Amino acid sequence: MLTNAPRGTKDILPAQIAGWRYVENKIRTLCRNYGYEEIRTPVFEHTELFQRGIGEGTDVVDKEMYTFTDRGGRSITLRPENTASVVRAYLQNKLYADGGLVKLFYTGSMFRYDRPQAGRLREFHQFGVEALGEQNPALDAEIILLAWDLLKSLGLENLRLKINTVGCAKCRPVYRQKLQHYFSDNFDDLCEDCKHRLNKNPMRILDCKVDGDKEFIEDAPKIETCLCDECREHFARVQKLLKAAGVEFELDARLVRGLDYYTKTAFEIQYAELGAQSALAGGGRYDGLVEEIGGAPTPGIGFAVGIERILIALEKQNLLPAAENKFDAFIVTAGSDAEITGFDLLTKLRRENISATMDFAKRSVKAQMKQAAKSGARFALILGEEELASASVTVKNLETSAQEKIPLEKVAQIFA
Ligand code: AMP
Repeated sequence: MLTNAPRGTKDILPAQIAGWRYVENKIRTLCRNYGYEEIRTPVFEHTELFQRGIGEGTDVVDKEMYTFTDRGGRSITLRPENTASVVRAYLQNKLYADGGLVKLFYTGSMFRYDRPQAGRLREFHQFGVEALGEQNPALDAEIILLAWDLLKSLGLENLRLKINTVGCAKCRPVYRQKLQHYFSDNFDDLCEDCKHRLNKNPMRILDCKVDGDKEFIEDAPKIETCLCDECREHFARVQKLLKAAGVEFELDARLVRGLDYYTKTAFEIQYAELGAQSALAGGGRYDGLVEEIGGAPTPGIGFAVGIERILIALEKQNLLPAAENKFDAFIVTAGSDAEITGFDLLTKLRRENISATMDFAKRSVKAQMKQAAKSGARFALILGEEELASASVTVKNLETSAQEKIPLEKVAQIFA
């Protein structure tokens, strides 16, 4: 027990860090290029924020939250996603005060009590963006492109971008009614969850994992038959912009987000080889959310992508970078006096921004040389009696095995 982390969590080990940094660096570069600024919000919030901001009736809120009462008697929840938190921070800190568009990104741990399996964890990491304050469809296209460009710039292939529109408060009720009517005729064939969804949220039946393959779901009425002019034009414009940017996408009428504050564009990027957890990224517009959380009506749009799933996809496509060479220099010392000189050299090199290490186990020179080779260092810096007597150091290039003796004070120059 003591040596096992809780189910659904994972240590990220030094050998895996190169991959994480590779993804994180791409994220930072891309967000700078797209003009999104970083925000960091608390890992826990008042439970009510997620109940309102994600919505009761969703699996995340009803079944998957890590909720507890703190010592002050408050109900607290570990964030299962970050959109609600970002909107809360936007309102609390009046980030809207300057007017206009606010573009934010975040990375961090999210927590969901779900059944762990490949690509599904209880603590996982998301990168996400939120753009608040603008309803231009060009922003929808920008957000989709950002997600797409991230995955493409990492080298990933075989991705599928699916888009849909979920309408708005004006036209969606008509569609909901149409669906209710349609699914009522198939009531006996619905799974137990969908039977409940029929009244509360019939759109969610469309993306049910259990009922998904049934023919009557394929044949269900499509939202395009109910869209208002504004939603229709918005969606057409998003598609036009994506085409102009050369991005291939598929229309998927069954890509839905059931809650009322979701509006217009919904999208998902899938990578089929992830199996059951094929969604790499998902997002869309939520023009009703800021108001739901207590702000003035403010349009918003965002997406989130799972970093672990990106890493699985990178591994499958052999795109993970190799671990970096760890050190520039490994200092090898013979005897106690040499250790003092060596330690002094170690400190000086590090202060010159040169990565260096030495043996701390008082091993033999031979064993230290082996260790130096194993460490991936470019140079071994050898300090023996002779070197100490002449204030010099023997520098061995561990790639070519070439060796030379140079004055101690000139060592830093070989790294220039
Ligand atoms: P969502 O917030 O559910 O729209 O998820 C957005 C993305 O986060 C998904 O496409 C996944 O890449 C990732 N994700 C969601 N849930 C999990 C989980 N339990 N474990 C790992 N990644 C997840």
